[in-house]
Parts: sequence; C-alpha cells; structure tokens
Amino acid sequence: MRDLTTLSRGFAPSANVAQLKESATIAVSTRAKALRAAGRPIIDLGAGEPDFDTPEFIRRAAQRAIDAGATRYTATEGILPLREAIAAEANGQYRGAGPITAGDVVVSVGSKQSLFNACFVLFGPGDEVLVPTPSWTSYYEMVALARAEAVAVRGDPARELKVTAELLAAAATERTRGVMLNSPCNPTGAVYDAAELGAILELAAERDWWVISDEIYRRITYGTPAPSALQLAADRERLVVVNGVAKAFAMTGWRVGWAIAPRAVAQAMTAFQSHTTSNTAAVSQHAALAALTQSEEAERAVAAMVARFHARRDAALRTLASVPSLGYVRPDGAFYLYLDVSAVPSDDGDAGSAFARHLLEAHDVAVVPGSAFLTPGWVRLSYAAPDDDVARGVERVAAAYAELAGGRK
Ligand code: PLP
Repeated sequence: MRDLTTLSRGFAPSANVAQLKESATIAVSTRAKALRAAGRPIIDLGAGEPDFDTPEFIRRAAQRAIDAGATRYTATEGILPLREAIAAEANGQYRGAGPITAGDVVVSVGSKQSLFNACFVLFGPGDEVLVPTPSWTSYYEMVALARAEAVAVRGDPARELKVTAELLAAAATERTRGVMLNSPCNPTGAVYDAAELGAILELAAERDWWVISDEIYRRITYGTPAPSALQLAADRERLVVVNGVAKAFAMTGWRVGWAIAPRAVAQAMTAFQSHTTSNTAAVSQHAALAALTQSEEAERAVAAMVARFHARRDAALRTLASVPSLGYVRPDGAFYLYLDVSAVPSDDGDAGSAFARHLLEAHDVAVVPGSAFLTPGWVRLSYAAPDDDVARGVERVAAAYAELAGGRK
C-alpha cells in the first residue's frame, strides 16, 4: 500500500497526512475498473457497494425536490425534516432518559464524514482509541488523522473475530478515550448480539470512554436483527451512533450519512463541518428523507435487496463447503465474506495479499487483502455484486485456494 511520501515528487506532505495510506478497498476497486477498461473480464468482488439501482420511489422524490428548488445550500447540519425523521427513528430504539431531537443529529457527506467528524472532535494527541480488529480500514486512518492512536484489539477467533469486553479491558490504558464499534462488521459480516454489545457498552460507561457505533449495515442481516447501541445503552452521554442510507438503500453515490450525538458534540461536529464541506447535497438529503419516511416502500425495497444478498451468501457458502480446509467467518450481516487464507504460501508472510494477487492475475477476480484490515492472513470478498459474478467469483476463489493451499490448514 502506498503512503503519501512515495507519491511525492518535489512535494513533501505535511505532518497531517505523512503517514496516511490510500483506502485499500477503494484501491482494489480502482484497479479492477482499470483492468476491465483495458479489456480484462474482471469479476470485482472487492467493492463494498450494492449493485442495485437506488429504489425508484427515492429517485422520484429527488427529481421532485430538484424541481421544487432543492438546489441551494442547506443548514450545515442538514434539513430539519430529515433530522427529525432520523431522531424519530432513533427514539423508537432508545430506552434511556430524554428524547433524541433534531438538534442531536448532524447529517454529513456519507457516514464516512460523520465518523471522521466524530473522531476529530472527540479525540486528539495523547489519546488512545480501541479499534476491534479486523475493522474497516478507515477507522485506523481517521483516528490517526485526529492525531490520536488507534489501538488494534484482535477479535477472538472462537467468536467470529469479535472482541469482548474482556479483550477491550485488557488492551486499555489510562490514555484510552474511546472505542469504535461496527456491527454488522466490515470485513467479517459478524453481528454482535445484545449480550456482547451490552457488555461492551457497560465497560465503556464504567471507564468513561466515548463509544462510536457505526451501524451502517444494521438493516442488512440474515437471521436475528443486529441490536443498535441505542437499544442497549443506559444513557447517551458518551455515545455517538453513526448511520446512513448508502448500503441498505443502494444509495452510495448520494452521500448521505449522519451522527446522533449528545448535543454539545453535535454542535462541535456542525461547527467543524461548517469549515470543511458545509452541508451534503440538498437533493441527496431529500432523497434520504424519502428513504426514511416512505416507510412501506422503503421496507419493501430493503427487504428485496436483503433477500438477494441472503441468497448470494448462501450460494457462496455452499461453494466454499467444497473446500473444507478453507476457513471463514460465518457472516450473519453486511455483504462480506472473510476468508482465512493463511495457509497460502507467500514470500513476505502476507498470505492474504499473495492470494489476492494470484486471484487477480490468474483468475480475474478482485478481492481485498486482509492486510487492509490489519489481519494479513485473510481476504475479504464482497457479495454486493451481480448474482452471476458472485457465483463464478466464489467458484474461482475456492479453486484457487485448493490449487495454492491444497489440504493445508
Ligand atoms: N462504515 C463502514 C463500516 C463501511 O464499510 C463504509 C463503506 O464502505 C462506510 C462506513 C461509509 O459509508 P458511506 O457511504 O455512508 O460514507
């Protein structure tokens, strides 16, 4: 992975970004697209992006909004009806004292910006932030951009690589200020149940840690629903819940996410955002409003997409069963499969990268090496791709693994 210093030619990046790495997941997709453009029949199982079109009722709402003049700046924190809809949904989940109101909600340019805003206003030099690992690649970089230290806490292999309250407690120091949570998890698809999540929230409350709970995949599950931190937290004093429309509503390009935070934190995030991006696109906010308020159509659309992901997941697992030596985390949510390819030989000890390279070069399949998630013996594949691509791609993954690792485990 390139860091910015290797890009420089007569340019010395500032200390702010000197250690920054490009997003590995985006890099894989960019490479897959470039190879495709050059004529290679690449199957892209790298991108974490639903292959469906945004549901029609949402597109129509956006068209109406443009015609009605949603073409100007909005309030930095987002249009009021959208923030009210987000607050209303959150109130349906939250059991603690005091209602969540629109003033606790900040709408941003995707949940990615909400997460960055939260890291930037909550953490700073000298702070440590616990990051369950493997985790989405951007958490480590966001914490580092806030000049805090991301402390990777390895998940338990016996529990789908999830962390426990005990593992977090063991990694904590007196400098620990917060923890990043993500359930369903990217890259594993693992879902924290109420007991697991509740125990972590309890520990965080005891220790006065900030909890940033990234719930972007919460609507995409294949068994029991994923609990929200809002349902389990005793209070919201140190809780920031982040969500958005990108994944569940196939709205990645619209760029709408949000944070629900204590009022003072919401105000700080708004002030910060007022100097960076201001509001996210007005028309996108109206599209998100339709997604959150036209409930019947929304439920139908989400259920139909989740059913497709579910069918792809089951088909992929059936194919993987033909290579019993290939281990994986059983995904109960999101749209990823995390495969243990540590038995694949590699020159530099990074079996995941060796396997991903081989898959791309010899089998035309793009996946993301686990090193992007600080677990080098693994690869992530996404089944948010057309049914046929997932079916053929997973077959090639299974065959390539059998070829490289044989029966090794
Ligand atoms: N959080 C996680 C765990 C993700 O995987 C992603 C996208 O890949 C995001 C946040 C960002 O989503 P958005 O498109 O809302 O910025």
